[in-house]
Amino acid sequence: MELIAVAVNTPQHSGLGDVLTYRATSAAAPGTLVRVPLGRRETTGIVWARCVAAPPADQLRDVIEAIGALPALPASWLQLVEFAAAYYQRSIGEVALGALPPSLLGLDNRQMERRVARAAKGSARAGHAAPGRGDALAAVRAAVETPAGDPNDPGLAQPPLPELSAEQQAALAALAEAHGRPLLVHGVTGSGKTEIYLRAVARALEAGRQALMLVPEINLTPQLEALVAARFPLRRVVSLHSALGAAERARNWLAVLTGRAEIVLGTRLAVFAPLVRPGLIVVDEEHDPSFKQQEGARYSARDLAVYRGRLEGVPVLLGSATPSLESWQHAQSGRYALISLNERVGGGPMPRLRIVDLRNLPRGGTEREVLVPALREAIAERVGRREQSLLLLNRRGWAPVLHCAACGWKSGCAHCSAWRVFHKSDRTLRCHHCGFTERVPRACPDCGNLDLAAIGRGTERLEEQLRSLLPQARVARIDADTTRRAGALQAQLAEVHAGEVDVLVGTQMIAKGHDFRRVTLVAAVNPDAMLFSADFRSGERLFALLMQAAGRAGREASQAAASEMWLQTGYPDHPLYRALARHDYPGFAMRLLDERRTSGLPPFMHLALLRADAARAADAEAFLQRSAAAAAALSEAAGVTVYPPVPAAMARIADVERMQMLVESASRPALQRFLAAWAPALIEARAATRGLERFAVDVDPLSF
Ligand SMILES: [Zn+2]
Ligand SMILES: [Zn+2]
Repeated sequence: MELIAVAVNTPQHSGLGDVLTYRATSAAAPGTLVRVPLGRRETTGIVWARCVAAPPADQLRDVIEAIGALPALPASWLQLVEFAAAYYQRSIGEVALGALPPSLLGLDNRQMERRVARAAKGSARAGHAAPGRGDALAAVRAAVETPAGDPNDPGLAQPPLPELSAEQQAALAALAEAHGRPLLVHGVTGSGKTEIYLRAVARALEAGRQALMLVPEINLTPQLEALVAARFPLRRVVSLHSALGAAERARNWLAVLTGRAEIVLGTRLAVFAPLVRPGLIVVDEEHDPSFKQQEGARYSARDLAVYRGRLEGVPVLLGSATPSLESWQHAQSGRYALISLNERVGGGPMPRLRIVDLRNLPRGGTEREVLVPALREAIAERVGRREQSLLLLNRRGWAPVLHCAACGWKSGCAHCSAWRVFHKSDRTLRCHHCGFTERVPRACPDCGNLDLAAIGRGTERLEEQLRSLLPQARVARIDADTTRRAGALQAQLAEVHAGEVDVLVGTQMIAKGHDFRRVTLVAAVNPDAMLFSADFRSGERLFALLMQAAGRAGREASQAAASEMWLQTGYPDHPLYRALARHDYPGFAMRLLDERRTSGLPPFMHLALLRADAARAADAEAFLQRSAAAAAALSEAAGVTVYPPVPAAMARIADVERMQMLVESASRPALQRFLAAWAPALIEARAATRGLERFAVDVDPLSF
């Protein structure tokens, strides 16, 4: 009989421990999946390379069976998981088993055997083109340059490679010489970052290695997949993200673990792809907040990618037009290598920025016109020339709130500390946080006044106003409401690509990554809403969003000279807009970093949030107070500041009161030591607090 350590998915708060000891008839290699009893049920665990104290013999339980049909997970993968669990204060089992495709978790060895065999057979037949997304892929493929090869031998056609600019060559040389440092590639849209990624991927493949490419959004994976498949027609490309069907996700994951997949594309969860021969990790749009998981194990895939690169000894490429201040600071201090691409490939300039003063806007009736006259004319001219315009408004629905002027009633949500949004298309008031939806009332529910006013403007209303302002234009809208149905976004994008749309209205969804060829005007209708947000990262976010939106204009070199980005603002002299007009990210970043240093914020200060949810705010607060008292007693609390409990920015969602407590330290190791020492006290505080629904530690929170 052997004793083996097995990671099982016990909740962090159970206090059970996350790596348990079992008895087995034979030793199993670390990384092997096993079926084990846990309480009254049977579950899948992973053999862990770790000695744990054995319980008394009468409490030892036997492994049911080892899942030998699946190759053991690589040792470096186990290390990555162990690091992530410790750093983000979660259990090893939760992180490890959460990173596996759910459909593989319940299988016994026989079932796994069949699954692995089927996946191997499927991959031999299917090549890299995954079924089910034919239309979207075909549309995007058509937009990608098709290689001119022998039509009788399509599989062997190698695409001709574009010539590299001097800047791109410098970037690839820097990657080769980075010696274990991540390389940050800072380049505006169109400067050829993707070509650098592809060349780096080619190098990894030539060395017989697997390449991992992370993108922030599921929507961007089909586009990237088509591009990569066209460049590497003989290589197996798979994607990993949460929108894949269960069978496809499992098949792709198995292709990675068995080494058949050579290029892996995915969203944040793909940072845990079980690469067996890693050779490169790329994180595109590395600044994007989607890389941070916002529930469960709140990890940053970007930060884990950097850790994984060091762990595996493989190069890491981070790319962005507006790097996160964390990465930019690392590049300034020399921890990361830095290459800036300052020219757009093909030589076109970035669109000219036109800042218009919203305070001069004429009033039409009771409120301001939506567009300044000059912008309206600029759009109308483009409609006449069959060029496209893109209008960005980061708020969906018709109006953010309804209001009764007679008694002051507003369309609040009964379950959240938020307003319900007026959606005119289906005459509803909808809460965007909890989903609570009702028919819009005919009269004020409080006083019966029939004259309810819509305050503010969302994309639905902007679309309607544009239709009446520009009757000759074909207006379309893309936001979370128009793209709810599967495939809707791809269909709508295809219409834009086909030139069937003159003016496209949308939220930040339209600013990201899409390669619109006929857009020569981009306008931010009301960017000021993000300018004075309480979130300390809102300036950084707004700059990134506007740069990204600007990058949608003038993708064709022939149109670049006539391309414009318009900003309607009440603060035309704001430094953020001034820096944007100069396309000056470095200057903007330097100013923000100075501010962050002065005010003690990341990346100069390291933060963690203790969040607590309860039906009554008093219970959440009691838990936080207990936790704070326990913290004060810890010797590890030296050099760490624990702030008093406060309500979260959204104090109530779906009838749950949300409180939080900020913890900070100038030293990351000190903060980590403190959090580790504090963890048992949190479990005790939870047990002592009736009414607490849940708590969570959020390390490196995006906001607080
Ligand atoms: Zn009223
Ligand atoms: Zn709500």
